[in-house]
Amino acid sequence: MKELSKVASQVQASTTLAVDALAKQMKADGLDVIGFGTGEPDFDTPENIKEAAIKAIRSGETKYTPAAGLVPLRKAAAQRLKADCGVDYAENQIVIASGAKHNIFAALMALINPGDEVIVPAPYWVTYTEAIKMAGGVPVVVYADEKAGFKITAAQLEKAVTDKTKLFILNNPSNPTGMLYNREELRSLADVCVRHDLYIISDEIYYRLVYDNGEFVSVAALGEAVKERTIIVNGVSKSYAMTGWRIGFTASSKEIATVMANYLSHSTSAPSTISQYAALEALNGPQDTVDHMRDVFQERRDYIVGRVNAMEGVSCLSPEGAFYIMLNISKLKGKTLGGRVINNGDDFSLAFLEKGLVAAVSCVGFGAPDFVRFTYATSMENIKEGMDRLEKFLKS
Ligand code: PMP
Repeated sequence: MKELSKVASQVQASTTLAVDALAKQMKADGLDVIGFGTGEPDFDTPENIKEAAIKAIRSGETKYTPAAGLVPLRKAAAQRLKADCGVDYAENQIVIASGAKHNIFAALMALINPGDEVIVPAPYWVTYTEAIKMAGGVPVVVYADEKAGFKITAAQLEKAVTDKTKLFILNNPSNPTGMLYNREELRSLADVCVRHDLYIISDEIYYRLVYDNGEFVSVAALGEAVKERTIIVNGVSKSYAMTGWRIGFTASSKEIATVMANYLSHSTSAPSTISQYAALEALNGPQDTVDHMRDVFQERRDYIVGRVNAMEGVSCLSPEGAFYIMLNISKLKGKTLGGRVINNGDDFSLAFLEKGLVAAVSCVGFGAPDFVRFTYATSMENIKEGMDRLEKFLKS
């Protein structure tokens, strides 16, 4: 048999989904597993959004839409970006896709030529490096350690630039670290991108989940020279508890938007029409549920950070956004826990799942081997029980 695609064969399975699959299997086998795995709000999609989808079905909105998405939805996305981030886009600069992940993939396909380098700060969301490879690019990872608040500096970015660099991927607030770049930090990173003529994919999917009244700044709001080279990625999954509806969007130059839309027109034709009507209500409708969910996440963050830092052997920073903590397990290296010698996050997360019955994601695949990611997008009851189990496991 002839070999499979070289490009596709290099792609790794999603580690976050793998841990989740194992945890689900253990649950199906009757074990009482608590999941801190997938980054998915535990809230139900708000009622007004569900109703909008039902209404769309009943009124026959069940046909294809334009490849770039419904015009009213593109307008609604542009209005949200204007209201929330202070950036101006026309509707023909917005592209709707089947989830922000799909938007990222389409953006990479629109920008990358074989061998182009893409700079990705670590710890990173696993999809970036794999999607870059799928698009024929070469990921170049720049490490930010915990002492630097998991943020890279302009000097680090500059050092990673070569004559092959095409693009810089910024994720703000970040999955997995929860860290938020402030205006000055963004300005210095953006200056490097402008100076070296790099595109920026700015994944801002967690922008509504910023705590302690922190200020979210979109890198595209830092002036025309930055905006014209930036592709903002956003969507409804995280802000409106709509992960299963699969709607995301990008805002970019019209030229990039057109290339993306053409590409999407031959891969999905268009995103689900019903989900687009639901997303339209999410973006245009009342926003109080978003604020409520953010406040609840903040309470949970405070609790989980407090519990972790009161334990021996582990610690974590207090994240400013998103819904993840990075459990630092470096002090446990070389020790035996749950019958396994702990050398990295993989060993810890496997031992903790098998013996502690808690699913958390090793950050080996995120470029941070001494860390394990816990999401707090799960109920307070689960968080309390999970932390009790962690305490017990660490004493085992
Ligand atoms: N970007 C980041 C940083 C994410 O964490 C996720 C979801 N895990 C996405 C994009 C994808 O979101 P969607 O469900 O809209 O595809």
